[in-house]
Amino acid sequence: MSDSSTTSTAIPFKAETRQILDILIHSLYTEREIFLRELISNASDALTRLEFEMLTNQDIIDPGAELGIRITYDQNTKTLTVGDNGIGMNESEMRENLGTIAHSGARAFITAAKEIGQSSGNGRLSDIIGQFGVGFYSVFMVAENVRVISRSYRKEDAAAAWVCAGGDTYSIEPAEKSTRGTEIIIQLKEDAVEFAQEYMLRTVITKHSDFVPYPIYIGANQEQVNKRTALWRQNPRQVEKKDYNEFYKQLTLDFDDPLTYTHISADAPVQIYAVLFSPSHPERGMFGIRKEDGLKLYARKILIQDYCKDLLPDYLGFVQGVVDSEDLPLNVSRENVQANTVMARLKKLITSKVIDMFKKLAVEEAENYAKFWLAFGRFIKHGVSVETSEPENLYPLLRFHTTIHPDQWSSLDDYLGRMPERQTAIYYILGDDDHSAVVSPHLDIVRKNGYEVILMTDPLVDPFMLLRLKEYKGKSFQNVAQADLKLPENAESQSSEDTDVHSIPVQDWLPLIDRFKRQLGDQVSDVRMTDRLADSPARLVDASGSPNAEMQRVYRLLKEDFVAPKKILELNPRHPILTKLNSLPDSDERSALAITQLFENTLLIEGLHKDPASMISRINQLIEKALD
Ligand code: ADP
Ligand code: MG
Repeated sequence: MSDSSTTSTAIPFKAETRQILDILIHSLYTEREIFLRELISNASDALTRLEFEMLTNQDIIDPGAELGIRITYDQNTKTLTVGDNGIGMNESEMRENLGTIAHSGARAFITAAKEIGQSSGNGRLSDIIGQFGVGFYSVFMVAENVRVISRSYRKEDAAAAWVCAGGDTYSIEPAEKSTRGTEIIIQLKEDAVEFAQEYMLRTVITKHSDFVPYPIYIGANQEQVNKRTALWRQNPRQVEKKDYNEFYKQLTLDFDDPLTYTHISADAPVQIYAVLFSPSHPERGMFGIRKEDGLKLYARKILIQDYCKDLLPDYLGFVQGVVDSEDLPLNVSRENVQANTVMARLKKLITSKVIDMFKKLAVEEAENYAKFWLAFGRFIKHGVSVETSEPENLYPLLRFHTTIHPDQWSSLDDYLGRMPERQTAIYYILGDDDHSAVVSPHLDIVRKNGYEVILMTDPLVDPFMLLRLKEYKGKSFQNVAQADLKLPENAESQSSEDTDVHSIPVQDWLPLIDRFKRQLGDQVSDVRMTDRLADSPARLVDASGSPNAEMQRVYRLLKEDFVAPKKILELNPRHPILTKLNSLPDSDERSALAITQLFENTLLIEGLHKDPASMISRINQLIEKALD
């Protein structure tokens, strides 16, 4: 570095850094204890990075020293010191790491802080602070001034000090330090001297940093404060629910408890310890500390990857937790973890344990399972459409609303259990939402026959899922909108008024069908009568040879310019609208209005109407005529 860096000249912070310091100092007063969590977290990161370095390099300062975090305080001088013997920093690293904030991180933090300020006071700023690489600066909530003395693990690097009083500038100067690591010496503000008390420090450490994987020593006698035992390596029978919940919160900084968790401790087929959690909500967003999907991967207690994405399929990426295996080679590089065959076995095991965890939740805690389903059901459905190895393992997790139980979640087993003996298939209907699906004319015939129909009304995932979900326990899935749907005979429902469409003389309807065809022209591929409708006057069905309804929905999502193939308009000859239309002379202008409106109603119900508001003037005309 240049000469100026070794003499103590004031170096100005960038404007953004200044702004962040302001936010931290002025808006977090009641939560300022979290500064200690941030400093301990940085110390812990520095120790982890050193451990990782030592896998391949022993030629460093103090190679044999026990790794730990040391906290001392002095009430008389009102100082607090947080020290570690981690990786350390040389002068230019200090300038780089403590003097500047990654531009993107700083901006994101300022935006987030503003949003929080606008919504719910500043209560949660403490939750996000670690997320943007600005954690270190939280020390200025309690510090009059700060002196960071650090020495890198590299033998050739000299010690240096970074000094700042929280103003607009900092400085860097040479320093004396013979041991490896970093010491942060805090001159406490008058109103923050409580942080030079042992009781206070212990309370804050147990609350926020209990599971930090290195010993935290405190006070003159250097007693260890934190639990430190890796929770995942303990005997599951000896860990209580509250410990898991606390561990989860320290891992993710989620302020809600997890919905459920599982603790794996196995020797075969692979040696593994793992603790895995389902959050209670999908958004990790602002408040979480985990920046990406993925699990923390340790090999023999050493952190190999912070966000390992190769241990679970993508659709289970919301699962949080820690995995530790003795079977992974220690000197495996972060890059080739992926190629390791142990990884494949770990993934298989973890995936099946996670699915079991959800199955157990469904059986034991229905209410929490409903919460799970609302939060993550889409991921599971997506899993069904993409999982190549044993997707059927996911089927028991699926939940649906149905025509008979529109307000409750039914599993496929619930559905099968309720189905009459004569029923041979699982019926479903596709739609854009439950509300419009239940009024679909396609349901007329199934309803009349007393069959329950599953509502597949998540347009973004259900059509994809159905491309894979073809059968469950020997029963095939059938779309009730299929024109040629065959229903098993139901003797009871054949009431006497039920006349077969074929018994109505065809020629009596031909002129009306013709009128429809002439008027609708190439908007439909055909018009015909059907016996499948009861309460509805008409419906649209796919012409044979068109891609099936699921495929059409998939295309609609994937191809912007997808034009749905023309459909067949089916009419219900028993419906009074049709019988009345049939007896109207062609010349009656109500006829043309009614035909167009009937057709557009069917488009609307299929979610295919491009401009529903355009119907209003026609409807008004019809009302006028009806009132005449
Ligand atoms: P983050 O931890 O998210 O990167 P911080 O503001 O907390 O952001 O810390 C900034 C950087 O300063 C760290 O990334 C690290 O490089 C460096 N740093 C902070 N504390 C230490 C420490 N005790 N030992 C070594 N490096 C540290
Ligand atoms: Mg940090």
